[in-house]
Amino acid sequence: MKIGVLAVQGAFIEHVRTFRSIGVETVEVRLPEHLEGVSGLVLPGGESTAQRRLIDRWGLRAPIERLAESGAPIFGTCAGMILLSREISGGEEPVFPLLDVSVERNAFGRQLDSFEADFDVPMLGTQPVHGVFIRAPIVDRAGPDVDVLARLDDGRIVAVRQRNVIATAFHPELAGETRFHRLVATMAAEHDDPGEGSGRRHHPTRRAGRSA
Ligand code: GLN
Repeated sequence: MKIGVLAVQGAFIEHVRTFRSIGVETVEVRLPEHLEGVSGLVLPGGESTAQRRLIDRWGLRAPIERLAESGAPIFGTCAGMILLSREISGGEEPVFPLLDVSVERNAFGRQLDSFEADFDVPMLGTQPVHGVFIRAPIVDRAGPDVDVLARLDDGRIVAVRQRNVIATAFHPELAGETRFHRLVATMAAEHDDPGEGSGRRHHPTRRAGRSA
């Protein structure tokens, strides 16, 4: 099983390293053919405007849409969250409108370009997550199908999930936080072989023949 990490711009190498640290193979995605055979995809932090241009320049939009539609996990951090949002403040066109949320880019303003905070993400257990925020977006609306995974103390939403799509406003990969990546790897394995894990046995007969 391999997880793709979009590598056209931004902080992709930290995701590669985080997956390596938990024994998960990755492939850096710059061209459509790099998506062949991946079981999940990370959209890293960086500059979402630059990323959206490069995604279109290299013909990555349609194959990423197909991967998402197949149910493979898609995990966006920071700029990646912006790319996954249905609505972007200022009326920018969405890129992959897979999350029924509105995001505001650079929501913490000039005074507070980057900061770190600890908060609970109940889905990941009782130990709080240490989040690194760098010119981060904020979710200012989440639709009814969106699970809010984390909020700051002031109530602002910083992590969400809608089915196979997860997004964080912060960078877990810059804080030695591996639980999101473990979750993505588990979801990817489950996507490859729905008979495993969670008790959803769509293809019980495939268990004996699985290769991973
Ligand atoms: N400010 C960037 C944007 O709006 C995101 C920053 C990040 O990914 N760390 O695209």
